[in-house]
Amino acid sequence: RVAVVGAGVSGLAAIKCCLDEGLEPVCFEQSQDIGGLWRYTEHIEAGRPSLYPSVISNTSKEMSAFSDFPFPEHFPVFLPNALLLDYLRRYAEHFNLREHIRFGTKVVSIRKHPDFAVTEQWSVVTETGGKQTLHICDAVMVCSGNFSEPSLPLQSFPGIERFRGQYFHSRQYKHPDVFQGKRVLVVGMGNSGVDIAVEASRVAAKVTISTTRGAWLLSRVFEHGYPWDMILNTRFMSLIKTNLPAPLSWWLINYKANRWFNHENYGLQPEKSWLVREPLLNDDLPSYILTGRITIKPGVKEFKDNSVLFHNCPEEEPIDIVVFCTGYIVSFPFLEESEVRVENKHASLYKYVFPTHLQKPTLAVLGLIRPFGAIMPVAEMQARWVTRVFKGLCQLPPQSVMEKEVNEKKKNQLQWFGLTFDEVLKTEWLVYLDTLASFIGAKPSVLGLLFTDPWLALTIFFGPCSPYQFRLGGPGRWVGARQAILTQWDRVLKPTRTRAPAASSSPFPSLLIVVGFLLLLAAVVFSF
Ligand code: FAD
Ligand code: NAP
Repeated sequence: RVAVVGAGVSGLAAIKCCLDEGLEPVCFEQSQDIGGLWRYTEHIEAGRPSLYPSVISNTSKEMSAFSDFPFPEHFPVFLPNALLLDYLRRYAEHFNLREHIRFGTKVVSIRKHPDFAVTEQWSVVTETGGKQTLHICDAVMVCSGNFSEPSLPLQSFPGIERFRGQYFHSRQYKHPDVFQGKRVLVVGMGNSGVDIAVEASRVAAKVTISTTRGAWLLSRVFEHGYPWDMILNTRFMSLIKTNLPAPLSWWLINYKANRWFNHENYGLQPEKSWLVREPLLNDDLPSYILTGRITIKPGVKEFKDNSVLFHNCPEEEPIDIVVFCTGYIVSFPFLEESEVRVENKHASLYKYVFPTHLQKPTLAVLGLIRPFGAIMPVAEMQARWVTRVFKGLCQLPPQSVMEKEVNEKKKNQLQWFGLTFDEVLKTEWLVYLDTLASFIGAKPSVLGLLFTDPWLALTIFFGPCSPYQFRLGGPGRWVGARQAILTQWDRVLKPTRTRAPAASSSPFPSLLIVVGFLLLLAAVVFSF
């Protein structure tokens, strides 16, 4: 019996994978419905992320799908939040997940059972309508999300106590009318900051974004108009990024990022260029900077009564409203700190999933990772691995090995070969997926396929690493996987190519395929 905390993306994947492995999931969801973050509500609920109505996924539908359940072909390529929720509802219905969820039930504490040393069980206390209930569970999957507790570091902003304007955290933001005719300062340039600044600038008198570190900005509409993640998250690109010496990888990333516009000219150049930071996805920001609607400034030095001073800028800037888009704190209020410790945005978990100190791994955390790619297939892959570990079909390495790896990750040293990730981004999306897939025997063998199914092998290697790749073989094999891979571009073009009939749906010219064959051979030799 496995307790699953939360019924968002991670929780739904957890329930499904428990069922696939013959485990008995019982999911506790504090709110009244599934979807977690993706279920927009006008009012803000404690413990659940709060969206603004205009949020659109920044990962494409083909790359954000669960690996055995593609998005409907008529859905747009990037998904307004209501459609992403629609997809999650279809998923829950298709795999009969709802009957395993107890809604309106909050998990208030998870403790080791008094007999834990023998049984390795957990005591899970839930609260429904003020009444507490104890559940004894053999294992726990924590899927409670990490974007509901705002980080509002006011101590980092001298003078904020005397600022007479209005200020609030991005979690409070819903509609742009609050900015009508105002001079707005957006602090922090994550995706929330950029989205909110762009929306505000359509009604505000003036909008300024303050960023300490800058960031790479990408457009959802990438080279030749294809979705960015279907072009960048390929096995071929991953091989190049992670195997070239770091300076060369960096040159490549700089080159790709600056092809749209020169980041330095727009005041956006990332501060530590050797560190891979979560890029921003926004199609409007460069043109809004160019047309003077948005101005980029460095970090805030000090707030005054009605204005702000920035570092290295002598003039004060008059401001009426400040939106702190300063991100979120990760916490697990129902767990003891000794079980999962989070320091400096880094949780001490093996592969971001398992605490290293338990005798038997019967507790796992899902979705606590921000790779540069869609989180849905990542959470699903974690769930596939975790359920097989719970069943004893996969083993974890000894504690010392896991601790060593966790500590190495914390150090975050500059590497000569491969890339260095900042404490938030953590790891390369495809490498991480492949690592977990190899643990459960679901990593596709490009080399093997080259001899049995060369067209598929080429599509897998040069094309987008869509999640269906991880259902071609191994446990949880899905018979529709091959077809889903070969038709992925059809589903991308279906909602856009609405005037002329499709001539060819593959973005790759045939010459490339021939050259590809040769390159693939060279790459395979290179990687082994
Ligand atoms: P959540 O969606 O947060 O779900 C957690 C659930 O757990 C909630 O339903 C909550 O009510 C419940 N819960 C929490 N505590 C308890 C408790 N104690 N007891 C019972 N239930 C509890 N990722 C992408 O891949 N693509 C995107 O385009 C993308 N866009 C994003 C946009 C925004 C604004 C944000 C903040 C994040 C975005 N993400 C995106 C990342 C996002 O976190 C994941 O897509 C995904 O939704 C995370 O799902 P989750 O299930 O881990 O967490
Ligand atoms: P975030 O990515 O964590 O960014 C927070 C930013 O706040 C930091 O990048 C930093 O910006 C700034 N900051 C943090 N601490 C600070 C401090 N002490 N002083 C000054 N500045 C500080 O948070 P987010 O933008 O809310 O995004 C959260 C998640 O939601 C991300 O994964 C994001 O991709 C996702 N999201 C997605 C969409 C979408 O369109 N699908 C929309 C919104 C959010 P600087 O370094 O620039 O100063």
